[in-house]
Amino acid sequence: MSQPRAKVVILGGGPGGYEAALVAAQLGAEVTVVERDGLGGACVLSDCVPSKTLIATSGLMAALDGSAGLGIRLNGPVPGGSSPGGPMPGGTGPGGPGPAKAGAAGTGRAVVDAPRLYARVRALADAQSADVTGRLAAEGIEVLAGTGRLTGPRMVAVGDREISADVVLIATGARPRILPAAVPDGDRVLTCRQLYDLGELPGELVVVGSGVTGAEFASAYQALGSQVTLVSSRDRVLPHEDADAAVVVEEVFRRRGMTVLGRSRATEVRRTAGGVTVLLADGRTVPGSHCLLTVGMVPGTSGIGLEQAGIALDGGGFVPVDRVSRTSVPGVYAAGDCTGVMMLASVAAMQGRIAMWHALGEAVQPIRLGHVAATIFTEPEIATVGITQQAVEAGQADALVVKLPLATNARAKMQGFRDGFIKLFARRGSGIVLGGVVVAPRASELILAVSLAVEQLLTVDQMAHTFAVYPSLSGSLTEAARKLMRPAEDV
Ligand SMILES: Cc1cc2nc3c(=O)[nH]c(=O)nc-3n(C[C@H](O)[C@H](O)[C@H](O)COP(=O)(O)OP(=O)(O)OC[C@H]3O[C@@H](n4cnc5c(N)ncnc54)[C@H](O)[C@@H]3O)c2cc1C
Repeated sequence: MSQPRAKVVILGGGPGGYEAALVAAQLGAEVTVVERDGLGGACVLSDCVPSKTLIATSGLMAALDGSAGLGIRLNGPVPGGSSPGGPMPGGTGPGGPGPAKAGAAGTGRAVVDAPRLYARVRALADAQSADVTGRLAAEGIEVLAGTGRLTGPRMVAVGDREISADVVLIATGARPRILPAAVPDGDRVLTCRQLYDLGELPGELVVVGSGVTGAEFASAYQALGSQVTLVSSRDRVLPHEDADAAVVVEEVFRRRGMTVLGRSRATEVRRTAGGVTVLLADGRTVPGSHCLLTVGMVPGTSGIGLEQAGIALDGGGFVPVDRVSRTSVPGVYAAGDCTGVMMLASVAAMQGRIAMWHALGEAVQPIRLGHVAATIFTEPEIATVGITQQAVEAGQADALVVKLPLATNARAKMQGFRDGFIKLFARRGSGIVLGGVVVAPRASELILAVSLAVEQLLTVDQMAHTFAVYPSLSGSLTEAARKLMRPAEDV
């Protein structure tokens, strides 16, 4: 006799929600996703996808900035010809050139067409959202547009409709934190979700907060042509990341002309006639044309009936979950940013999938957060996986560490960059790879080799015996592994 189909209702259509929906549908459940703003969630519509699309352009600008050293002259005369070279593709357009350091044709700099760039960002986000909509439709998943709330542990209301479910997944994400004395107005004082509505590049952008989001946007806008001031309350930028990596990125920021204010806590942001003034705790003021606030995220868990349904929240309003995404109430799961567990799209998606595998009776492996690969999309990028140097220094892991600068790598020289390194951690004795840090252009792509080693418990010997292409940056990964190999007599 066949079992009745389980009814699954999912609040939120971001990666936590829509990936869960796909798994649940694959397992034969009847699935409804309730989404307020659009499928793909904030990840696709306002956060991850738009920011990385913007960074695709800023990365190219950064590369062009260093192109003279590679023998490229921008807007220079055509060799042997009489006609002057035109502007760089996309360099000028109907919106006119960008501000600040974006130079005019003939000055040797590419310029950014901000309206075109922002239009591309929005179009790409919409297209990605449409792709997600198509995938869910193809699997027969019902999508309800609107704000959902719990009216009981397994009862969800959307407008006038009430749906009873066997399984509920909360995947309502998070939103930027707002400071009482720095309220965004969407014009000059902005959250990261409001940048793409600007008609131009900020001339002088003050970024408050030097965590991942602050560092990524500071890096991007500096490359796009804004004059950026980064206000950091800590000693250095990216205070929670590998210290060696953060130092490299901060050096690059300064060299490219960014002003980095360390140990500077912003207390207030005021509008002025020409822009904004950011007030610091020590009395200094920082003027700018625009201010971007990146001071953390708050969970989207209030006012949707969670407490009334008996679901425990922590002090910050996040939904505590175990490693298979269960909340404190049986049958109710949670995934993604609303849980406060590593705020990454990949983690949200995995939490969502695991929730459905568990709820619908599939074999499931609890999430392994120690194996999550992550990247900070600054220029250069910082990619990490596995244990950290901090953990090694604190004695939490008995590991050997090797750090190889990329400045001596032949491919890096050919590509004209010298800022970056490869760091590898291996267990003392067994040589099993425990983690790594890559600081390089496209480190996000290079880290997979280390991720594979960590996931599959490979040893540095196995990594060292793996062929890498010559010349390549990944050759430095195998070289780092070679440096960690034990001499034969120690085996
Ligand atoms: C600027 C920025 C850049 C980022 N870049 C990256 C990156 O490069 N890589 C990466 O891995 N992560 C990145 N992240 C993090 C990533 O975006 C989040 O981890 C991811 O979006 C979390 O997915 P989610 O499903 O939990 O929530 P979301 O993507 O936030 O989706 C939640 C959805 O729920 C909806 N919702 C909320 N409440 C309700 C309700 N009551 N009823 C109906 N719908 C509701 C919302 O409208 C939203 O669409 C970035 C974040 C930011 C801010």
